[in-house]
Amino acid sequence: MKKINYLVILLGLIILTLKSNANPIIDKQKNKLIDSVKKVPVDPVCKMKVKADASKNAVYNKITYHFCSESCKQKFVAEPAKYVKK
Ligand SMILES: [Zn+2]
Repeated sequence: MKKINYLVILLGLIILTLKSNANPIIDKQKNKLIDSVKKVPVDPVCKMKVKADASKNAVYNKITYHFCSESCKQKFVAEPAKYVKK
């Protein structure tokens, strides 16, 4: 009977190991979520975090810039070099 107890404990350890192996996958998904939050576009004119709204963006040097308002977009379009880091 001792052998059976040993097998049950071993089985339990295997299950625990499998469960602990599943955690890094969850961590990776969390990191992906954090990364997507970090990539919030910033208005280059007023440095405000903005939503990636397709109606308020402008493309300069093949990079799309997003703006909080139409007035910021107009300022950028008038003098893009002033607001883009060189
Ligand atoms: Zn702005």
